[in-house]
Amino acid sequence: MMDPGNQVVLIDTHCHLNDASFTDVLDDVLDRARREGVVQFVVPAYDRPSLSRTLELARRFPGVVFPAFGIHPWYLEDGGLEGLEGYLSLQETVAVGEVGLDLAPGMAPVEAQEGAFVAQLDMAVERGLPVLVHCRKAHERMFNILGAYRGKVTVVLHSFSGSAEVMERFLDLGCYISFSGSVTRQGAKKYHRCARLVPAERFLLETDAPSIATQTTVASLVEPLHTREVAVKVAELRGVSLEEVCRLSTGNARRLFGLEGMEGEK
Ligand SMILES: [Zn+2]
Repeated sequence: MMDPGNQVVLIDTHCHLNDASFTDVLDDVLDRARREGVVQFVVPAYDRPSLSRTLELARRFPGVVFPAFGIHPWYLEDGGLEGLEGYLSLQETVAVGEVGLDLAPGMAPVEAQEGAFVAQLDMAVERGLPVLVHCRKAHERMFNILGAYRGKVTVVLHSFSGSAEVMERFLDLGCYISFSGSVTRQGAKKYHRCARLVPAERFLLETDAPSIATQTTVASLVEPLHTREVAVKVAELRGVSLEEVCRLSTGNARRLFGLEGMEGEK
């Protein structure tokens, strides 16, 4: 049962409420999230059609849904970065994303991915926006690219999938580390270690809904409400209270994305 005196305040810093699976159930999804203390949502676009959907959501739920705009390495082919800059220049935009590198088999050629990624990093630098980064099987290349942007742009490694040693190197570049449902899984020793070692001022929480399973829930059924499950696990791993993890992660998210608190919030 849920604690009726629910005092925690959480932000899902990376969820795809712009995914078609949420379209008809959005009010319920937001209600269920709020009941678990998850009150604000950073929603990254990923392909060209999702740019306008993401903006519509942000305008429908002002102060609740915060948009990020970018083209994910999986979707570079349909039209490239055309039209993106207009979205990044909007006043409600809180980040560039979701962008990055994915060197798993079958992905776009690495040169094309790097070209689009660097172009979007430059757009972030120009506007002073943080960047939400997807990095799969590409940590070395990512590290080399971000090294050239040290001090110019703040990067969030979303659903971080590297080792603690790799995490240290990215922390040295000033990156934030974001934990998703993958940290909740019982056997995920590598992620558990990262959650224990990450500095208090450098971690965020997310679900990447509806893409990443948690210990209790299959990926397709994951919603922003599961940010709480991520928070509970991170608290357990760090040996601190849930309240402390919420206070830290929410403070980090608000500082990084420049979000205001909700009215009537403790
Ligand atoms: Zn994502």
